[in-house]
Amino acid sequence: MATRTKHKGANAPAGRKAAPAKKQTAKVKAPVKDALKLVKVRNSKVHGRGVFALKRIPKGTRIWEYVGERMSHKRVNERYEGADERDNHTFLFAVDRNVVIDATRDGNDSRFINHGCDPNCESTIEDRRVFIDVIRTIKPGEDLNYDYQIGRDRNDPPDVDVIYACRCGSPKCRGTMLWPAKRPEPRQRRAKTAARKGAGSGKRKRA
Ligand SMILES: [Zn+2]
Repeated sequence: MATRTKHKGANAPAGRKAAPAKKQTAKVKAPVKDALKLVKVRNSKVHGRGVFALKRIPKGTRIWEYVGERMSHKRVNERYEGADERDNHTFLFAVDRNVVIDATRDGNDSRFINHGCDPNCESTIEDRRVFIDVIRTIKPGEDLNYDYQIGRDRNDPPDVDVIYACRCGSPKCRGTMLWPAKRPEPRQRRAKTAARKGAGSGKRKRA
């Protein structure tokens, strides 16, 4: 499992760390030859465009490799400096600490697969390449999705959760494409038994 990433500030994938590149260097499972016989890109009600199954796609199918220009986080930050941080249509995928794939260049249609909180696909890293695998058999017409797990960064705008709100519609929707789902509360240690009452405690706002 790896993470998609935002345009800016992604010095290192935050949150759940991108899976460390596995040691293996040979033999990655190849994606299907012609994904467009299985799926179609069209406008999505959820978010921008989406990818929809044309037929039943069995669990275990490797649909695509997530391809694009491979670059450093630093280079990505330079490229997107001044980009609208409110634009949540990111086509960046953080492979690990060193590499980001920018699918706006040389990308394929895998970049249109939407985020979902109870997904039928997942992103897998093998040999520092990213693949989209089906983890639950997909019915014709269903949209493909995987959990972006976009990392949180220190310099996120305060309303980052609004920008990256999720509307996947799943009963398990956690409401955000970000991971962790909630902002970690900075250094707050709850006194164990300190009664909740009174205390005027409440949540801390992040600076
Ligand atoms: Zn959701």
